[in-house]
Amino acid sequence: MHIIRNRPETRSGPAEHFNGTVWLDEIAAPEAPSRLRMFNVHFAPGGHTAWHRHPYGQILHVTEGEGLVQRRGGPVEAVRAGDTVRIEPGEWHWHGATPSAFMTHLAVVEAADDGTTADWHAHSAVDEYPA
Ligand code: MN
Repeated sequence: MHIIRNRPETRSGPAEHFNGTVWLDEIAAPEAPSRLRMFNVHFAPGGHTAWHRHPYGQILHVTEGEGLVQRRGGPVEAVRAGDTVRIEPGEWHWHGATPSAFMTHLAVVEAADDGTTADWHAHSAVDEYPA
């Protein structure tokens, strides 16, 4: 066992993959054979991801605020604290805050053999995000 009290890996979401202000707080990335990657992701109002997909899918658990999620071909859906979203392997989607509220979610994924956890669309903008 070991207790991690400070997480220097906290960083802002890079502009090529995120819109607005997003902070990524890496909670867990244990060594192999674990593939687990766990983040606490903080979105300021208007902050949201680009379209992307995860090789083994993703679990999002909203812990604060009001957010939006959309899978390819589906409607933009509202989520709030307490909601859990399961994204299927390879399913294109985006997630983020609403335009007027903060949102925080835990994000849990498994890394692929090459260490990647997401495959991003070439453009960060999401046409479906409400103006
Ligand atoms: Mn995702």
